[in-house]
Amino acid sequence: MAAPGDKKLLGENAVADTNKIRCSCAHCRVSCLMGPLMLITVGAIFLAAQYTRYGIGDLWPLFMIVPGILLLAQSFASREGHITR
Ligand SMILES: [Zn+2]
Repeated sequence: MAAPGDKKLLGENAVADTNKIRCSCAHCRVSCLMGPLMLITVGAIFLAAQYTRYGIGDLWPLFMIVPGILLLAQSFASREGHITR
């Protein structure tokens, strides 16, 4: 436990946790793209709705197409060297 005199930065434990090993196989790397790619999709849809003649009502299928493509890529990605936690 931390002594009263210890100065620890916020989130230092999370960064320096050596027990938390991240798997770097292709399957896990592709699955890590899901969150960022959905945020980019949301931004791209709102941008397109603002500056093109297509509205959100026309572009909503991208919310299914983009994760579908990513899940397809994930299923084809190699699991060689996968680390199970
Ligand atoms: Zn993995």
